Amino acid sequence: MSYRTVHINPVLPNTPRSSVLVIYTGGTLGMVYDRNNDQLVPFNFEQVLDHVPEIRRLDFELTVIILDHLIDSSNMQPAVWSQLGHIIRDNYDEYDSFVILHGTDTMAYTASALSFMLEGLNKPVILTGAQLPIGVARTDARENFITALEIAAAQENGQPLVPEVCIYFNSMLLRGNRAKKKESVHFNAFHSENYPHLAMAGVRIEYNTPFITPYQPDVKLTLHHRMEARVMVLPLFPGISQPVVQAILELPTLRGIVLESFGAGNAPTDAWFLDGLKRAVDRGMIIFNVSQCDGGRVTQGRYQTSKHLDQIGVVSGADCTVEAAITKLMFVLAQESDSATIRKRLAEPICGEMSL
Ligand code: ASP
Repeated sequence: MSYRTVHINPVLPNTPRSSVLVIYTGGTLGMVYDRNNDQLVPFNFEQVLDHVPEIRRLDFELTVIILDHLIDSSNMQPAVWSQLGHIIRDNYDEYDSFVILHGTDTMAYTASALSFMLEGLNKPVILTGAQLPIGVARTDARENFITALEIAAAQENGQPLVPEVCIYFNSMLLRGNRAKKKESVHFNAFHSENYPHLAMAGVRIEYNTPFITPYQPDVKLTLHHRMEARVMVLPLFPGISQPVVQAILELPTLRGIVLESFGAGNAPTDAWFLDGLKRAVDRGMIIFNVSQCDGGRVTQGRYQTSKHLDQIGVVSGADCTVEAAITKLMFVLAQESDSATIRKRLAEPICGEMSL
């Protein structure tokens, strides 16, 4: 695990209000235009700081960890989630909160993964990024970064206001495992259709307290850093072909599939499809059913086209996002080997990623 550490605001005139550890992983926020190759590439964090001189005026202590391999988040890997988990665990007692600077493309996956991996989290972990690099005049990076820091540092009676993994973007604070990237051009890159926002930043930052995980004074952080990579997402579409589905279901190494079904969790009722699923489930394959719709939920058994899935032993993902479903599957499969236990754990909420 290799990274550099930079301390900002080390000597403040007054006692710092809070201490925040920033982890910089890459993403558009810190990219520059490489003229020679006509593309955006990650650049040095010291240059990022030059573009946000305001952060030197914040009244809390700030330390920045810069990962050695800055990435476009399309290159995100479970190994990096594990690295982020280790950094947070190893620095947990020393800092009040954590801000992760991350590309937007897979931010919702990382936020979901961390929410499962950091069991007993009692401090804010806020992910943010930007649609435009920080060096560009109209960038959204400055506001996203500074407000994410403010939210991370926010406390009441010495307790953090948002002790969970979140995404802050374009004035909205969302629960990390409920968020989804919905927009690649406009600034409102994320939404959370099935769970209310946790805060909205205007002139004041207004917290939606009833929906925020309450602070629990006595819980201890446990890092679960392993994730099972032998999983996949299978989106259904009209005309999906038997040989392709069969080849996937019979892959000997595959342990689990997130089935992206239609509407309220519906799937074709062709015998070849249902028999294939049944054979796979009987062999121990875990199939987790989430909807292709961003809003609403899977209700297995509501239509005839989902009743069979229920009978076969497909697990309902209720109102989970695909991002939360696939990372939950990776997480639970890495922890458990007994199929019944895996199914039971998938069907129950772990950290606010689904409502039953
Ligand atoms: N491709 C970039 C990334 O995810 C996009 C972004 O940061 O907005 O790293």
